[in-house]
Amino acid sequence: MGKAIRIYAGVGGRAARICAAAALLACGSNVQAQRTQLKPGWNLFSVQQDIVVGKQNAVQAEKQLPLCNSPKVDAYLTQLGMKLVAHLDTHGATYPWEFHCVNDRAINAFALPGGYVFVNRGAIEAADNEAQLAGVMAHEISHVALRHGTNQASKAQATQGLLGITGGLFGGGVSGAMLEQLGSFAAGGVLLRYSRNAETQADISGTQVLYDSGYDPRAMAQFFEKLEAETKGKNPPEFFSDHPSPDHRVDRVDQEISKLGGSPANARKDSQEFEAAKREVMNLPIVKKATPGPAGGGGMSKPAPPSSSMSMYQSTGYAMKYPDNWKKYGEQDNVAFAPDGGVGNDSSGHGALAYGISIGTQTVQDPNAPSALDTATQQLIDGLKQSNPSMKVARQAVRVRLNNQPALSTYLGSASPVGGQETDWVITVMRPEGLVYFVCTAPQAEYSNYDKTFGSILDSVRFK
Ligand SMILES: [Zn+2]
Repeated sequence: MGKAIRIYAGVGGRAARICAAAALLACGSNVQAQRTQLKPGWNLFSVQQDIVVGKQNAVQAEKQLPLCNSPKVDAYLTQLGMKLVAHLDTHGATYPWEFHCVNDRAINAFALPGGYVFVNRGAIEAADNEAQLAGVMAHEISHVALRHGTNQASKAQATQGLLGITGGLFGGGVSGAMLEQLGSFAAGGVLLRYSRNAETQADISGTQVLYDSGYDPRAMAQFFEKLEAETKGKNPPEFFSDHPSPDHRVDRVDQEISKLGGSPANARKDSQEFEAAKREVMNLPIVKKATPGPAGGGGMSKPAPPSSSMSMYQSTGYAMKYPDNWKKYGEQDNVAFAPDGGVGNDSSGHGALAYGISIGTQTVQDPNAPSALDTATQQLIDGLKQSNPSMKVARQAVRVRLNNQPALSTYLGSASPVGGQETDWVITVMRPEGLVYFVCTAPQAEYSNYDKTFGSILDSVRFK
């Protein structure tokens, strides 16, 4: 950790004893004793599972993102990152840190659980000095140490317990299926969209790391301020969509700095290595971002049309058929079937189901109540709207039958991960195990190409 004594607020007894031992030293002015103590929040995952999930996502990110492919810049980021990690409180965990440069001019950076950090060239280019870049990285590694990604996933699991249309989680605790899901397309949106509270924590921890590493601790907040000032009235940088600014961000950081005893006079700001790395990224070829959209335009390629020959799927509660060129994701009560290329990126670049069907079960308190189907369907739709604010009801629920069971059919609309609008056709049925829902998703412009397939899938459903 590199510091001889770390006395936290709230450990008064110990602090008092150390003060007594220090006898004549002015303990009252030991401002370091006041630094904010942070702890990872509630989590269903183990640290080892953070690493597994993070690694799976990192492998995919490396395949999908344009990397800088500059050994020089990667080595520089790794060296800087490890210098910061040496002063990071990981709460006893050891992570396999990796640092990658992404050839993307958007000002952003992200860290996956387990310590897989990706820094866009845009963030390096936008930083005025090494301390500012170190600030961004200290913020990112703090998300890892505070385990914010899987904390969010745990909360989503507990409060929703369903597969959100835009890629939520599959139910039932941290099962193999859930890990599999988090390791694949559904992950990004849950793992990387932090709450403002998590942002404040990462700011505070990041400031402590900067301070302890000998950097100007104001550099992180200065960088955020600069980003905000430079983009006033324009599109805010991507960084703020992944890392939403908490209220009084800069004030809170300043407060922490004074708790730490102020910015040291000899704090490091810049280095020749930073300037060299910045020159290097500025000379990298510019990679045009694929513009997602059903019209093509270099975006993700459209999935192959659904095959008319079907495979059989059996869950504990029902059997059904699906096109044999679609893949199954998840298990048992919470599954999705999607074609290759059926998974796009949502507005903040995270994986989400764009084409396919998701099926899940939501527990219901009293499945036999006369209005149980209506009430539970409404709750399901409310939950979906909550996880996807762009979602609207396009056609109110109408009564239908699914395998001869009373069912509700509702059409929703929302922003598609591949651009434009998508249609989500939701069929809900009340079963002894709870509300079973089928969500058929495709971009609005192509929905008519999928309507028949969705119909065949639903016609094939047989409850047990
Ligand atoms: Zn953040």
